[in-house]
Parts: sequence; C-alpha cells; structure tokens
Amino acid sequence: IPLDTVNKSWAIAMSFAAKERLKASLEKGKTTLKVRVKTNIYPSEELTIVADIKGSEMPEERLVFSAHIQEPGANDNATGVGLALEMASLTAKFIKQQQYEPKRTLTFLWGDEIISTQRYVQEDSIRAKYIRWGISLDMVGEDTEKTGGTFLIEKMPDPSAIWTRGNDKHTEWGGSKMKLEQMKPHYLNDFLIDKFKQQGKRANWIVSTNPFEGGSDHVPFLRQNIPSVLFWHFTDQFYHTDNDRIDKVSKTTLKNVGTTALIAAYTLLNADKKVAKSILLNLETAAVSRLNEEFKQSKIAINNGDSLSTQIEIITAWKDWYQKSFTTTSGLFSDEKVINNDIEKSQKLIDSISSVIIKELQKKN
Ligand SMILES: [Zn+2]
Repeated sequence: IPLDTVNKSWAIAMSFAAKERLKASLEKGKTTLKVRVKTNIYPSEELTIVADIKGSEMPEERLVFSAHIQEPGANDNATGVGLALEMASLTAKFIKQQQYEPKRTLTFLWGDEIISTQRYVQEDSIRAKYIRWGISLDMVGEDTEKTGGTFLIEKMPDPSAIWTRGNDKHTEWGGSKMKLEQMKPHYLNDFLIDKFKQQGKRANWIVSTNPFEGGSDHVPFLRQNIPSVLFWHFTDQFYHTDNDRIDKVSKTTLKNVGTTALIAAYTLLNADKKVAKSILLNLETAAVSRLNEEFKQSKIAINNGDSLSTQIEIITAWKDWYQKSFTTTSGLFSDEKVINNDIEKSQKLIDSISSVIIKELQKKN
C-alpha cells in the first residue's frame, strides 16, 4: 500500500474466511468495519542458516539453493524450506554411501527473502566471484488442482522479457518490459528447461516457463551477474492467505521438483567437458527451435501490420542471445580450447538460420 497522506490508506492481514465475509458484505453495500490492531515494532536480527557440502575438486566453485523462511504459509514457503532440507539430507546420505561425490560445492541457504541472498553475494567478494549458479526455491509443492497455476521456471532475462509473444506469457505477478542491455545470455535456462521437461514427460507433469519478472531470491544473484533462476508456481489462489495450509501441498509435486532440481545440480556440480558439450548441443537445439518459433510469430506480426524492422530486431536479439549463451559453456571446465570449435560451429549454424529467416521476412514485406 503506497503512502497516501490524504486518504491515509492502510492494510492488515486477514484470514481467508474474514476476507470472504467482508467481500459478501461489500456486495450488499456500504460496510463499516471496526478493527482493533495490536502492533509491536522492535529491532530484530537477520539470521541465515548456511549448509555447505564441500566439493572434492573445485571447492571454491559453488551452486547455491536458497529457500526463504519468512513466509508463514505451507506452500509459501514451507515447501521451499523443506525441499532444500530434504535435498541436503539426501546428498549427505549419498556421500556417506559413496554413491555420489560433488566436485564443486553445494550450498543451501535458509534466510529472509532477498535480504539473505543479497548478503550472501555481497559480504565476501572472493566467495561471490566463484558462485556459478543460484537457484531459488519458492512455492515448489503446489497441489495445482486446488491452487491453480502450474510449475514454472522463471528464466534469466532473455528476449522473451522484451517481446513476450507466442507461447511466452507473464504470470499474474507481472513483469515490466526489459531492455536489450539487461539480457543475461547463459546456458542455464535451457539446460534446466530440458531437465524438467524430461521429468514432465516421465511423470506426466506440466512444466512451464515465464519470462523474467523478479521479486524473489534469484534477483540479488542476477544483479551480481551470477546465473540464476526461480523454481515456483503461480498463481496460487491461497497464496498469502491463512488457507495456504498443508492440504494444498502435493507430495508428487515436491518429489518432481526436488528430484529434478537435485539431478540438475549434481550434473552441474560435476560438469566436465563431456557434460559441457552435451549442454552446448542441447542449447543449439533450443536455439534452432526458438528461431523457428520466432519466425512463425514474426510472419503473424507482419500480417497484422507490424513493422519489418521490429521483426528483424527480434530475430537478431535471439540470435545474439544464443550466440553469447553458447560461449558460456566453456566456463564449465578449465581448458576452454577443447570446446571453442564446437561453439563456433553452433554460432555459424545460428547465424545462417537467422539470415535465412530475415531474408524470408523481407520477401514477405
Ligand atoms: Zn515466497
């Protein structure tokens, strides 16, 4: 509620039932409420729990899962807190049983939303320099038949956050139109989308994505130029009400999100040149299908009277985004030269596909 010195607007948290009663009463006409508010303002400490599972070969490099603790609901965010705990305990078990050994460090953070991840990436510049990936777990266990919105991967800023069209949709949370210089080209989006779509197929589970919107623990990472995404569900009709209870949580969803997140993390933590090459190949496939989809959307746009120059701008933006993303795969191991040829090949392919598309669009005009 923004400060309004004239109307003196104010807000209180209300139970779901009280809100429904109030709405019903408002429908009948003018309603007067008598509200007694007891409030307490006091200095408090900001506390974060950090769990590190040290990598065996590159301990300074790390992947960070964060779950915010300050929301009191079951889905928002006991699911994120609980899932992170389960992932940490499982990893400890696998290490004890010698089934898995992370080469890079796996870190879990439990703290105040945005404040704790912000502090984590700021208070130690050397530690921050080696954070490779940040993943936020926020509302990750929804029973979507009751709550509404499907599972979502909120992508790092890509051109869909500038030109949101076709299958790309913002959530009810909403996002503001971004600029080209705010883009964060990286393999992380498509790598995770691929892993989650595979699980979606196996488990008959709906996995969607949304263009960057912000508002959770992934933001401080991105501000620091650390690749970061958000795993979440939206919208949830019980979100931020006292009806966000355990009966709105699905064990199956938690299992799907947790298993896939852990598999993806283990892959990144132990990535070597073989993994880097497979990530690059997957990224190339994603780039080709993205360009074809944007080609389709551009033809529709031109038919609807949109300008050709905008369409060329969009195709070029996607081409650039993917070409830069390809180069980020070389950061997965020390000898960059091994993958440089493959990166160049992928870049050339995307270059030629996008020029064909642009020529076709010019013909249409
Ligand atoms: Zn939340």
